[in-house]
Amino acid sequence: MPSVMTHSLVGAVVSKLVTTRSVPKRFWVLSIVLPSFPDIDVIGMAFGVAGEDLFGHRGITHSLFFAVVVGVSVVALFFRKSNLTARMTFLLVLYFVFLTASHGVLDAFNDSRLGVAFFAPFENTRYFFPFNPIVPSSILLFEESSFGVGLMFEKLFVLLRSEILWIWIPLFALLVGKFVLPRFIHRSRS
Ligand SMILES: [Zn+2]
Repeated sequence: MPSVMTHSLVGAVVSKLVTTRSVPKRFWVLSIVLPSFPDIDVIGMAFGVAGEDLFGHRGITHSLFFAVVVGVSVVALFFRKSNLTARMTFLLVLYFVFLTASHGVLDAFNDSRLGVAFFAPFENTRYFFPFNPIVPSSILLFEESSFGVGLMFEKLFVLLRSEILWIWIPLFALLVGKFVLPRFIHRSRS
């Protein structure tokens, strides 16, 4: 996985992009927690569940099915009393499904050993995208000699460099596109 911080950064930025007025605090909290939530499967690892198992790392909790279950559940649990219209409820579910699923998508861009079980529980095949530029944060825990780095600060540097380049900068560009560019366009028209 990219680091927890980077997964949650996706939620923080996307929440800024999709909201135009004030929203309840639980919306922000869920937007930051859900993109990291699929890594809850590391608990199984602590109990000896093999990585390749359906309940192993990047297994069912990284699937699209899990994202749908989480999206529906959080809206049912946390927005039940919000008097939302059917359309708004649907959009909110879709939003939380997207944020939860974003985790598996980023993981599939990882240069690592274990792919993502996007279609679990229907099948446990592990997938990667054909392009894997993101260094997995597991290099901080294990020796991953393929990256040619050994010292902790070197690993941290390699990890952060790949996340900044492939995730932080594109997210920043989206924020600029929404909040900064329109001002310049207005100014140049007036
Ligand atoms: Zn993950």
